[in-house]
Amino acid sequence: MRDAPLALVTGSTSGIGLGIAKALAEAGYQLCLNGLGAMDVIESARAEVAAHSDHPVLFIGTDLSDPQAIETALTELIAEAGAISVLVNNAGMQHTAHVKDFPPEIWDQVIALNLSAAFHTTRLCLPGMLADNFGRIINVASVHGLVASVNKPAYVAAKHGLIGLTKATALETAETGVTCNAICPGWTHTPLIQKQIEARAETLGVSIEDGGRDLLSEKQPSKTFVTTDQLGALARFLCTDAAAQITGASLPVDGGWTAQ
Ligand code: NAD
Repeated sequence: MRDAPLALVTGSTSGIGLGIAKALAEAGYQLCLNGLGAMDVIESARAEVAAHSDHPVLFIGTDLSDPQAIETALTELIAEAGAISVLVNNAGMQHTAHVKDFPPEIWDQVIALNLSAAFHTTRLCLPGMLADNFGRIINVASVHGLVASVNKPAYVAAKHGLIGLTKATALETAETGVTCNAICPGWTHTPLIQKQIEARAETLGVSIEDGGRDLLSEKQPSKTFVTTDQLGALARFLCTDAAAQITGASLPVDGGWTAQ
């Protein structure tokens, strides 16, 4: 029997997921991380979270675009470590192309990872949460779950879908101790966005710094990147009793992007 409730944060070897994992570790949760990639990156993420935690940091290297792999990994994790109290569906990918040129196989990948994975983790974690009459499901959507931009048809569709799943799950659990909410970040400086900054800098023939400034000035009125610590703090708050009546909400953290 473990002495701390368990939090699973998907896509937590980098960026926003890592920021949320550190915040939840500081709040006293035992963390299970997830992500793909090189072992040294995974180990350094695990060490970073461990520095904020009094508990061993678990890891599952499951590819969340594979529903069968999700089912196997979560069934094993729950059998070994117990019910998951906090589920943060954060893993995501981006691909930019006009809808008429969008490769169908990449459409399927984006929907599988950014939307269907959250359905599978939710359906597998909910029974344990309902049995404990406590649970927090936090879906990391995006401003692109609320509004669209050009050249991101699969991402925008998946994130709008994720907000729909958030609302549906919230209604179905409304009379229980489980809440389900979506966080909708604007531009947040992470490896995912770094690629877009570099592409923009190259197109404009400017420095990476000016590429970042140009990206911000187009959409984000604050002209300042959101930080992963700010998103971690919001996730941590959503896990408190003070947030027990916040459910089904889509919370923008976007420097005013969706106020326009
Ligand atoms: P990131 O690229 O820094 O991290 C992505 C994480 O997902 C990594 O841990 C990676 O290993 C993991 N991952 C990728 N494919 C996976 C797979 N198939 N299975 C399991 N794990 C996988 O990205 P980020 O910027 O931190 O984005 C995290 C989430 O936040 C995404 O859902 C993204 O859409 C969303 N988001 C990001 C921004 C932003 O500006 N960075 C804005 C809005 C929303």
